[in-house]
Amino acid sequence: MTPQELKENLCVLDQRSPYYQDLLATGIFEEHGECNCDFCFRGKTQIAEYALDLQAELAELKSSLRTVHSMSDLRELRGDI
Ligand SMILES: [Zn+2]
Repeated sequence: MTPQELKENLCVLDQRSPYYQDLLATGIFEEHGECNCDFCFRGKTQIAEYALDLQAELAELKSSLRTVHSMSDLRELRGDI
């Protein structure tokens, strides 16, 4: 699932949701904690937030791994030295 597809499953009151701007245009706005949109009601928001967090952590890990240039760098990261 792509980050964009995940964002489509976020609460409509989450600024990362592609539906957020549509909601603002209606003039209706509620506090996020009290929302009963379909995504919150069915638990999709929590799953989407969890998956987005995991994708961010994975991207950070991949970025860190790109900075490892040699086996000695890897040994140093593992604490073998
Ligand atoms: Zn919601």
